[in-house]
Amino acid sequence: MNKTTIKDCNFNNKKVLIRVDFNVPLDKNLNITDDTRITAAIPTIKYILDKNPKKVILMSHLGRPDGKVKEELRLTPVAKRLEKLLGQKVLKLDDCIGSDVESKINSSGEKIIMLENLRFHAEEEKNDDNFAKSLAKLADVYVSDAFGTVHRAHASTAGITKYLPSAAGLLLEKEINYLGKTLESPARPFAVILGGAKVSDKIGVIENLLPKAQAILIGGGMAYTFLKANGINIGKSKLEADKMDLAKQLIDKAEKLNVKILLPVDHVITDSIDPVGQVKKVKDIPEGFIAVDIGDETIKIFENALKDAKTICWNGPLGISEIDAFANGTRSIGEFISKLKATTIIGGGDTAAAMSKFGLENKMTHISTGGGASLEYMEGKVLPGIAALTDKK
Ligand code: ADP
Ligand code: MG
Repeated sequence: MNKTTIKDCNFNNKKVLIRVDFNVPLDKNLNITDDTRITAAIPTIKYILDKNPKKVILMSHLGRPDGKVKEELRLTPVAKRLEKLLGQKVLKLDDCIGSDVESKINSSGEKIIMLENLRFHAEEEKNDDNFAKSLAKLADVYVSDAFGTVHRAHASTAGITKYLPSAAGLLLEKEINYLGKTLESPARPFAVILGGAKVSDKIGVIENLLPKAQAILIGGGMAYTFLKANGINIGKSKLEADKMDLAKQLIDKAEKLNVKILLPVDHVITDSIDPVGQVKKVKDIPEGFIAVDIGDETIKIFENALKDAKTICWNGPLGISEIDAFANGTRSIGEFISKLKATTIIGGGDTAAAMSKFGLENKMTHISTGGGASLEYMEGKVLPGIAALTDKK
């Protein structure tokens, strides 16, 4: 880790501004339906609170208010939940910049302050310099713990670091350590499992990891474009016709690099997804049927390819795992790799959700909290919210 982390900082009597990702799902009554993102930031908040800061100021976005105040996207329910989780009072403000915010921070007796939704100001997503300056004015030091948003160059993730010394929080440090270290120089054999809806979403990951991996296992919706490119009949299964040439090229490239690309050899199929129609396990997909999960023989072949791996990186479910009848492939492979000695790294929002649904969330080496950010990491991209942090001395 070449960036300053909170372990390198002195917070004594300082105002500390922490960018967190509290973009939690809310139901129509504004109840938080999943507070994982809030609990994920608690270790960093507690760590800093223990170091005798003057103030701990938290900022986040919530939803897509598009630069306008939207009552239903205020961070008030989030601040209440945070208060409960910390067992400490949190002062929630109605805005995130300005003289009123500044004076409330300075005059309040509360140590912990939650600012209002950053995206009520259009300047946030534009990485506006004056807006970044106004945020920076609130504090003495900036901490980023919002891994879910570091792939975006916004005022609160990137711009602000021009005006304040900055450091990575514990969550961010953990993500960088696991994703960064593992993907830069993975212990071999290195196997990559890819699935999910679309080839187009994962091209960057394949291209970045192909030269590093010994095996790439492809399942999920994206597998069918590859199979079709190989001349196999895929019925009504997911197809991106304009990506067939690319799929062929990737298969050829893998062959040249001596990387095994494994595709499904049998499938769970249905004649209708919603409602679930006639379900069968087959080797070949007949006309009118959709492949919705990998079959038993494929599971065996995948397990065999994974059993000696020292590093496994997985992005994308191997079937429509949100429907129980089509979740077996994703569940079986999840359970299998959770028992291996390998370093297991899971990225992608839907893959992470599947792992927690199957009770595997604590059985992997690392499950990334950032969907888009982890994908960009796997693509080998520079994430602006990490690049902008102060380098380690
Ligand atoms: P992640 O969020 O983990 O990166 P993606 O968003 O790429 O994963 O893919 C998840 C989606 O892929 C899910 O909505 C799932 O239903 C879909 N999917 C998986 N397998 C198939 C399939 N065989 N056919 C159609 N869609 C699929
Ligand atoms: Mg997804």
